[in-house]
Amino acid sequence: MTHRLALVTGGIGGIGTAACRRLARDGFKVIASDLPASEDRLRIFMDEMNWLDVGFEPADVSNMDSCVGLVERIQSKHGTISVLVNGAGITRDVSLRKMSLDQWQQVMQVNLDSVFNLSRLVVEGMCAQGHGRIVNLSSIIGQTGAFGQSNYAAAKAGMHGFTMALAREVAAKGVTVNSISPGYIDTAMTAAIPAELRTQMVSSIPVGRIGLPEDVANAISFLCSEQCGYLTGINLPVNGGLFMSF
Ligand code: NAD
Repeated sequence: MTHRLALVTGGIGGIGTAACRRLARDGFKVIASDLPASEDRLRIFMDEMNWLDVGFEPADVSNMDSCVGLVERIQSKHGTISVLVNGAGITRDVSLRKMSLDQWQQVMQVNLDSVFNLSRLVVEGMCAQGHGRIVNLSSIIGQTGAFGQSNYAAAKAGMHGFTMALAREVAAKGVTVNSISPGYIDTAMTAAIPAELRTQMVSSIPVGRIGLPEDVANAISFLCSEQCGYLTGINLPVNGGLFMSF
């Protein structure tokens, strides 16, 4: 099978794990990349992947040298990366009046610089083979903003601009670039939200429940499929109707 090598960053996180499982079931060879993880965390991840064709390569996506090493290791072993899911992300929530430069920069580097780093490194190979899919995991917060998240909202909104610009640059080469904006998804990232606030949030979701990592993985699978070649530069909200726009 051609064009079937997928790299998922944040690959052993909540949404990343579901994305790896789903893309592997779709027939991709999948490399999950994440920060170096403890043996226990890796074992749990590999157990969840079961018999699927999923490997792990550590890297810090906020660091260009680390990304260069990652892409070189993968491509020398497995060939051209045809699908890139930029899923690594962090929050450092605090109101702007109290935000340190470090809290701003960490969020920008992990959520947004990483998208430049990896897209820059894989897009040439995708163009050369005449096929590629880049999916950027943005957020509903990039569309609406949220108290205490000016750093995260800026990074996630920035991803949309990047997505549309790169989509235009590589569309004629068979490469699509899209973003997904999840709403509230049940992962470690949202587990920290106090129970009362969580209940309040869920009650405002029209679908009536918090999202599952698999809800996002379904959208990733769709955008990475061969049939999605005419869909580029879009932002696909996966939010249970929490924020509707056109
Ligand atoms: P998660 O915390 O479960 O997973 C994020 C993963 O990114 C973790 O495994 C973490 O180790 C990894 N990571 C952090 N810094 C990294 C770095 N420097 N280099 C490499 N990997 C790094 O969170 P999640 O909920 O699965 O989020 C996945 C993506 O979806 C993120 O980009 C997040 O911003 C976005 N998102 C999540 C939600 C939600 O409600 N959970 C909503 C909207 C958007």
